[in-house]
Amino acid sequence: MTKVLVHIELEGDDVAAVSYQLLGLARKLSGQDGKVDALLVAAEAQDHLPALGIANRAFTLSGESAAAYLPEVHLKALVEAARQSQPDIVLTAYSSAGLDLAAAAAAAGDFSLVAYCEEAERDENGLIVTSQLYGGRLVARSRVVLPALLSVIPGAFDEAAGRMSGAPEAVDLAHHLDLSQQRMRLVEVTAPEGGDVDITKAEALVCIGRGIGGKDNIEEAEELAELLGAEIAGSRPVIDSGWLPKTRQVGKSGMKVAPRLYFCLGVSGAPEHLEGMRDAGFIVAVNKDPAAPIFEVAHLGTTCDLFDLLPALADRLRQTAP
Ligand code: FAD
Repeated sequence: MTKVLVHIELEGDDVAAVSYQLLGLARKLSGQDGKVDALLVAAEAQDHLPALGIANRAFTLSGESAAAYLPEVHLKALVEAARQSQPDIVLTAYSSAGLDLAAAAAAAGDFSLVAYCEEAERDENGLIVTSQLYGGRLVARSRVVLPALLSVIPGAFDEAAGRMSGAPEAVDLAHHLDLSQQRMRLVEVTAPEGGDVDITKAEALVCIGRGIGGKDNIEEAEELAELLGAEIAGSRPVIDSGWLPKTRQVGKSGMKVAPRLYFCLGVSGAPEHLEGMRDAGFIVAVNKDPAAPIFEVAHLGTTCDLFDLLPALADRLRQTAP
């Protein structure tokens, strides 16, 4: 019988979309005869139990020390949940919290670790995992020795498969953990300043990547955006270089967007970028490198130089404008 333990995350007041994806994957890997356990660390963890109905059992930790994400509290809880659950497979998200936890939890529990996992299936000899390397440019298929911890790319698995309301058996971890010697406490959360356009609400986005080459070239992309009735957005290097404000960043550490049209110029399509835009209705990619991972999600793509395409496309759009 296969046992899977899932680390659950919250997004605001709700169970995060990626956690439902992990729960669906957990049920697939455990099979109907296996067991799925969930771990939820939150101020009022018990309030979320009905949302975790696909799990057989939910380990919870509530109260003040569980209210904000503190790596050492989550790690202690995950290690204790794993001690009680004795899972064959532990699933964490490849998220900011999951990135913190995965390696430490794998070391503490002596689990094999596979990061950047995008597919996982059982076979008679164990577990076969597909994971991404070098920002998605290489894909590795590995046979993994159990017990194993997989850190899973958000968006790689179906969310609906993990959504089931119910009443998993609850196990309170409070009495099993010594949290008296915490070395970290949350001082403050700083949210990005508003005031700019909300790109999550845009119907169309022109997203520029590092391939745009420099701040002076953005004007051409902005012209295209205007002609398409789109807002301008950027990948992380564009934001980090100060070419666009942080409010325009798409991806894991930026905004999750789902416009009807996503037109990207010189974006390679690293997993952290795809995480923020893979739900867009129609994705157009312009990238000189035919092996760029962005083409795996694009509905339409061209390998021409973006600086050749931009003036020609702008001319054509101007001619056809009503
Ligand atoms: P590159 O990967 O450098 O790609 C540039 C592309 O432009 C290349 O594929 C190249 O072929 C193409 N190109 C160059 N010149 C031209 C031309 N003239 N015409 C056409 N094509 C051209 N990234 C994000 O975007 N958003 C995030 O929120 C984010 N969060 C992250 C969080 C974490 C924890 C980590 C570790 C990384 C994160 N990243 C994020 C970074 C991510 O891993 C990539 O490094 C980043 O997305 C790459 O940006 P890019 O595609 O613009 O640049």
